[in-house]
Amino acid sequence: MIALASNPALQLDGVTRRYGDTAAVDDLSLSVDEGEFFTLVGPSGCGKTTTLRLIAGFEEPTSGSVRFGGRDVAGVPPENRDVGVVFQNYALFPHMTVGENVAYGLNFADPPGGVSDDERVAELLELVDLPGIQKRDPDSLSGGQRQRVAMARALAPGPEVLLLDEPMSALDAKLREQLRVQVREIQQQLDITTVYVTHDQEEALAVSDRVAVLADGTAEQVGTPRDIYHRPTSRFVAEFVGDNNVFDGQVRTVDDTATVAVGDGELSVGLEDWQGTPISTGDRLAFCVRPESMVVGSDSNCLTATVASAEFLGEQTRVYLDWAGRDLMVRTRESLDGTVTVGFDPADAHVVERRD
Ligand code: ATP
Repeated sequence: MIALASNPALQLDGVTRRYGDTAAVDDLSLSVDEGEFFTLVGPSGCGKTTTLRLIAGFEEPTSGSVRFGGRDVAGVPPENRDVGVVFQNYALFPHMTVGENVAYGLNFADPPGGVSDDERVAELLELVDLPGIQKRDPDSLSGGQRQRVAMARALAPGPEVLLLDEPMSALDAKLREQLRVQVREIQQQLDITTVYVTHDQEEALAVSDRVAVLADGTAEQVGTPRDIYHRPTSRFVAEFVGDNNVFDGQVRTVDDTATVAVGDGELSVGLEDWQGTPISTGDRLAFCVRPESMVVGSDSNCLTATVASAEFLGEQTRVYLDWAGRDLMVRTRESLDGTVTVGFDPADAHVVERRD
């Protein structure tokens, strides 16, 4: 017998969703593996929620297909898609107890594993680390607790796929950090395929196996958090994810590295990660260097700038520099003032754009 490669748990194939003249999602192709924590991140209006709604079945694509385990789910309503959904607002029923809310998620179906409804509710509240609160009123819970109950409700029927739409956006920063750890733990415990929507790039990097950075309804880059952070493939991703210094210049010479004229200076840029058209002399490039990769006091591959302002962040200080009218950013433990020299290893510079 020939072993066939298994289908991805979830697949979007050239999906477009139009509302009048607006393409909320524009020819988007993605594939999510079994048990993967996959995050859609991007600025407001980039199509994250619409993508999630297309997966859930609350919307149908204008063109393209959504597949679960290889099966096209066009026309299949949300309740038959085997998905659990948690929305931005808690959406718990205020007139029901916590236990009734979770049981509601079963949608009158038998709980998985042959247990009773009550046993299933108890099991799920245990899973989200809120054991024994069946009788409580949703109003008596904190925002983070309510979102965990909403998650228990979404997980009640044992769905194949969990969809989370900005579940933490109403919470304060500290609570978000705690909850995201819990969400990740629950996801790993169940090994459930999860698609998570957030506009918070730090959150996306912290919790995901892979991340898709969306812009204008399409994926700018899909990769592991480390890939997205360290090897952005476009200016948009370089600027959207974390702090970055993006330089524009023209190539003078090309060897293992490119020597790029930027303003009055010349900087060496590594080319190992560049996947686009080969770079040659005369090309115009944009490349980026993370603030933490800028080495203060370096005397090679360096530039001289003046300190404009600084933000003390505790562990490090974020220093804003002015380099001949260009804004740069450096992260350092030192306190800087006046004129400074900063350089970088060419391997820490990544080309994100090339034009003839
Ligand atoms: P946010 O982070 O602000 O929630 P998003 O990335 O989730 O944004 P979507 O809500 O998917 O973005 O919206 C993408 C685009 O599609 C936006 O321009 C939005 O105005 C438009 N859009 C979404 N739903 C509809 C609709 N039902 N009717 C008309 N336009 C819509």
